[in-house]
Amino acid sequence: MYYQEDIECMPREELEKLQLERLKQSLVHAYEKIPFYKERFDAAGADPYAVKSLTDLAKFPFTVKQDIRDNYPFGMFAADKKDLKRIHASSGTTGMATVIGSTEQDLKNWGDCFARGIAMVGGSEESTIQISYGYGLFSGGLGAHLGGEAMGCAIVPASTGNTKRQVQLMKDFEVDILACTPSYALRIADEAIAEGLDPRTDLKVSGAILGAEPVSPGMREEIQEKLGVKYCDVYGLSEVMGPGVAMECGHGHGMHIAEDHFLVEIVDPETMEPLPVGEWGELVITTLTRECCPMIRYRTRDLTRLIPEPCTCGRTHHKLDRLKGRTDDMLIIRGVNVFPSQIEQVITQFPDVATHYQIVLTTKDGLDNCEVQIETVDDFPFDEIRKLEKLRNDLMAEFKSNLQIKVNVRIVEPNTIARSEGKAKRIIDKREGLA
Ligand SMILES: [Zn+2]
Repeated sequence: MYYQEDIECMPREELEKLQLERLKQSLVHAYEKIPFYKERFDAAGADPYAVKSLTDLAKFPFTVKQDIRDNYPFGMFAADKKDLKRIHASSGTTGMATVIGSTEQDLKNWGDCFARGIAMVGGSEESTIQISYGYGLFSGGLGAHLGGEAMGCAIVPASTGNTKRQVQLMKDFEVDILACTPSYALRIADEAIAEGLDPRTDLKVSGAILGAEPVSPGMREEIQEKLGVKYCDVYGLSEVMGPGVAMECGHGHGMHIAEDHFLVEIVDPETMEPLPVGEWGELVITTLTRECCPMIRYRTRDLTRLIPEPCTCGRTHHKLDRLKGRTDDMLIIRGVNVFPSQIEQVITQFPDVATHYQIVLTTKDGLDNCEVQIETVDDFPFDEIRKLEKLRNDLMAEFKSNLQIKVNVRIVEPNTIARSEGKAKRIIDKREGLA
């Protein structure tokens, strides 16, 4: 089932024509209304009036998160005050918040993008959608809310917290679509089970639209299994809109990008050159319809690729593959790109070790040396040398086959790796010649 069949299934040729027309408008709009873009485009010699094809976009400079912060609060706004209808802001751990505004049309488009995902999990105007994302300055709750309104669903704006009540609302209001983060969906499922319910039969929920945080394949399966739902992964970031930039249709993996509103490029994170469809690199997004905050070539730092094969669901918009990590986190070890998430994936396959680990990089004889320190689980027999040695060898073999580089493993007793408050410090880079 589609929400906007004529757009979602538009022949690619027609879609690209629409994109070009909108791209020209968006570039001119940004140039004329926002001094930041005028300066940047002029400095790069990029003429927004001379764009003839989608590939001309590559002549324009990139925009990064810091640019939005530097223009705090309204420097990136192109809308007049009377047309400004919503302001969202994300507070980073460092520096000023990134502030993004929306006009009425921006909000309408946002609702349409999210509503496509509601249709993807079988929702309709007869649905009751429970939104258990946080409401507020964070774009999750109100973004999903716009989607529910666009579809014409009955909305239960539950927000987060009070999990017991979440379960009761779902049961009593016969909720069929749940929208929240994956970890919260799992908590709701576990709470229901703890209360003696079987969510698959005692709740009416049949679709879940889950995003805003990374999810492992194992956790995803657990959610589907426990709740008995069709799963829709959502991609979005507040800098270009919020949740709904891309949504999963359930036919094979990947999320359809709303290509009528966003033009995406995949670029090589080192050379910053655009890559052909199918290759892995950094996702760069240009908004095609945003009135208040047009974003031109926004670097998301997310690593993914476009899936080249057409989707069997009939939608023609390209799909984003599962996110592989962030360019910020990428390590280059002996010339090989390694993501901490790959290391974590290997670790989670071994039940004898905990997910407390640390990656220590040093230089040995002029070459990179990578050591991963991992804690065992509490009941592992740490004094049985043979068992310990086997575990270590198995881990090293698995790292070698997954990462294509040699990783030394040091297994340590539980609670020996320092725990820092907040974000865990996973990487210690002591290599020579690195600033
Ligand atoms: Zn599809």
